[in-house]
Amino acid sequence: MRFHIMTLFPDIFNSYMGESIMKRGVEKGIIEVNVYNIRDFSNNKHKKVDDYPFGGGAGMVMTPQPIYDTYKHIIETNNIEKPRVIYLTPKGKVYKQSIAQDISKEEDIILLCGHYEGIDERILELIVTDEVSIGDYVLTGGELPALILIDSISRLIPGVLNQNESFEEESFKDNLLEYPQYTRPREFMGLEVPEVLLSGNHKNIDEWRHNESIKITKERRPDLYKKACK
Ligand code: SAM
Repeated sequence: MRFHIMTLFPDIFNSYMGESIMKRGVEKGIIEVNVYNIRDFSNNKHKKVDDYPFGGGAGMVMTPQPIYDTYKHIIETNNIEKPRVIYLTPKGKVYKQSIAQDISKEEDIILLCGHYEGIDERILELIVTDEVSIGDYVLTGGELPALILIDSISRLIPGVLNQNESFEEESFKDNLLEYPQYTRPREFMGLEVPEVLLSGNHKNIDEWRHNESIKITKERRPDLYKKACK
């Protein structure tokens, strides 16, 4: 899968993509991350990418020309026919695992990171196919949200996780949160690992884990619990 990122701050992506599981996905050639600096495509002689909002008000708005030209460059140089272009915005659909699963089926994804007060609305009409928010709060830019999408989508692509890092058995599968996990030592600061996990009886372990998942989901996320019971 190829991610194409449109941003004013390309360096933010280098360090995250160069570590741990993301790094492995890139090295294995399963994911590719191409970062484009919107400023490089500005026609303005000072490489300006923002301007005052029509109608007045605080802050600056990203101008449409450099974004549109970055987009054209991406689709032309990568031969992308019908791109899915995701604008990260607090006004978008709130992100969740099922959206990650849906996007993970694409071959190419273009992520548009806004900054300042956001982008000129005409860009949404012209090129954006999806608007995604990572939650009900406002960040300074779309770079962290874009990384959240890249991370959560990449780990769903076969081969990115090792066999022992499977995503089959984790939170949000069947609308349940994950059961508690324990590792060595058996006793820590007077707290013991639940006996059943040491029993070697896999039927009992599975049953314990399932019951714990249900209990935690019911307590913490009644909204999910309702869906899980359907
Ligand atoms: N004026 C905008 C509003 O009130 O909706 C907020 C703009 S925000 C300061 C700047 C940029 O950060 C946005 O264009 C968007 O790309 C990104 N951003 C901020 N919060 C976000 C969120 N919760 N989810 C996704 N992107 C977000």
